[in-house]
Amino acid sequence: MSIRISDHYAEKSFGLSFEFFPPKNEEGEKRLDQAVNELIKFRPSFATCTYGAGGSTRDKTLEIVKRIKDAHKIPVAAHLTCVGSTVDQLRTFLSEAQDLGIDYLVALRGDPPKGESSFQAVEGGLRYANELVALVRAEFPHFSMAVAGYPEVHNEAPNPDVDLENLKRKVDAGGEAIITQLFYNNDDFFRFRDRCENAGIGVPIVPGILPTTGAAHLQRMVTNCGAKLPGELYSKMDRLGEDKQGQLRIGMDHCIAQLEGLIQAGVPGVHFYVINKSQPTGDILDSLYLPTSS
Ligand SMILES: Cc1cc2nc3c(=O)[nH]c(=O)nc-3n(C[C@H](O)[C@H](O)[C@H](O)COP(=O)(O)OP(=O)(O)OC[C@H]3O[C@@H](n4cnc5c(N)ncnc54)[C@H](O)[C@@H]3O)c2cc1C
Repeated sequence: MSIRISDHYAEKSFGLSFEFFPPKNEEGEKRLDQAVNELIKFRPSFATCTYGAGGSTRDKTLEIVKRIKDAHKIPVAAHLTCVGSTVDQLRTFLSEAQDLGIDYLVALRGDPPKGESSFQAVEGGLRYANELVALVRAEFPHFSMAVAGYPEVHNEAPNPDVDLENLKRKVDAGGEAIITQLFYNNDDFFRFRDRCENAGIGVPIVPGILPTTGAAHLQRMVTNCGAKLPGELYSKMDRLGEDKQGQLRIGMDHCIAQLEGLIQAGVPGVHFYVINKSQPTGDILDSLYLPTSS
């Protein structure tokens, strides 16, 4: 491996990354390829591909990572969760990823399967992301890993301090960068960053940004990932009713202002939740001055 994930966020670098998901059908494949082709001009430091609920996209995640990596000669991270997998199955995924020449992972626990309110590890499986990070570090040390962080606190955590202790476990186990869950209020991110620093978490903390395209989209996305609905932004868009273009403009303006604030505050990079649609991310990047990416 030439460079590790954390190197993209080193001083004088700016780590720009794009997250895609494995498509389910031919039309989705075309949309993914189009999104990647259109965004590559922004010279991302790396891309990532998600891992579907319960391991449902296991092979597809690896296929997409390899495809983007080979076509565009950029590093691509495979996301991996503990959901529904025994340690042996996780090892199989990791060996396959290694054999395919994949160097980066986003190591996660995953959400409880649909209809279940709490996460239960399968027999012979892992309970938390820090255990997955430790497994990778011990048995597949060549991988460079990012882990997830939650500026608004993870929705199952009893309080912010406990959540932070758990985040620190993942970093201490070998997480080399923290990519955050989406958020729409920079103050949440800044508070989180300060608290990480006070807790002795020294790895790069990278804001995860999901450009919102309208009120319904915003509501759906925050519900899906257990984040807060930003009331003011939502009302501004919702008030426009059927004026979808107007809603989109408000969403884009919010995101651009949010990113300008984050860049000004010295974030080491930014991770876009592209969701296989290039336009919102592309339009935003066209309107922004980014520090040089690496
Ligand atoms: C950047 C990013 C990418 C993502 N990609 C995917 C994806 O590809 N596929 C997918 O299904 N989901 C994905 N998710 C969602 C993620 O799986 C969920 O948010 C999940 O609920 C938590 O995963 P985690 O890795 O943060 O879990 P963990 O770090 O294990 O935390 C889960 C909860 O357990 C607590 N906890 C952690 N460790 C311990 C411990 N040792 N003891 C006690 N409590 C503990 C934490 O405080 C938290 O409340 C992603 C999220 C982010 C931010």
